[in-house]
This record gives sequence, structure tokens and C-alpha cells, in this order.
Amino acid sequence: MNFNKLIDVFMFREGTDEETYETMQPVITTGSVVWGVLLRTAIIILLSLFIIEQFDLREYWWLSAFAIWAGAAYPGWRQYQKFQEKMKKFEEETLCGSCRYLDTSSQLCKIYDEHPTKDYIPCEGLNWEPKQSDNE
Ligand code: SF4
Repeated sequence: MNFNKLIDVFMFREGTDEETYETMQPVITTGSVVWGVLLRTAIIILLSLFIIEQFDLREYWWLSAFAIWAGAAYPGWRQYQKFQEKMKKFEEETLCGSCRYLDTSSQLCKIYDEHPTKDYIPCEGLNWEPKQSDNE
């Protein structure tokens, strides 16, 4: 993971459609949201410990819990919901979206180990198989 990717994860920053097309990589996935939350939580805990120790604010420890909720958990949850909406749209609009080999938690083709996009189908449709319904 390079430094820019780390910043993207920390900021829960999504790539533009052009970037996604160029790199064929979705910037935000379930994994990057989890990483973002963990990274933010670790930074908030370290900062809180430093501030609490430095200014002897032990009776205000609960503010750290609030900071973790406001700075890491809630933005992570919002970002996850956004990713879910994006995946739902992707499933409706693309060939890969209706294929049984698509891993919807990371927008990844399980056969080719690549990220399909709206304009990029790694197998060019040759390995497409329909998703199985629950009654099969
Ligand atoms: S097998 Fe082909 S159609 Fe299915 S997800 Fe992979 S690239 Fe897309």
C-alpha cells in the first residue's frame, strides 16, 4: 500500500470515475472502510492518551470514546452504506454484477482476481455465469 492509498483510506476518499477507469481499481471497498476505521481509531487513541497525560484530564476519558465514534465509527458506517449503494447500482448495470464470480464485498472477480468496472470486464464475458437463486 503506497502513501497516497493510505491517505485515501484515512480520508475515506473515493476516486473519481476517471481514476477508477484508468486504474481499474475501486478506491473504496469493505476492506478499505475497515482499514480506515482502524487507522483513525488508532490515531485518535494515541492522540487522546497523549492529551490526557499531558494535561491531566483523566476524568474526561469518555471524550475519547465520543471522538472515536464521531471521527472513526460513524464516518466509516456512512462510507460503508455509500459503498453498498454503489455496489447495488454496479450489480444492476453491469454484466459482472450479475455474475456468480463477482465478490460484492470488494468488487472483485474471483476467477481473474481483478476489479471489474463499468467499462472493463476481465473475461470479456467468456466466463460469465448467472448468480444462483436461493431456491436452487
Ligand atoms: S467471470 Fe467474467 S463476468 Fe464474471 S465477474 Fe469475472 S470478469 Fe465478470
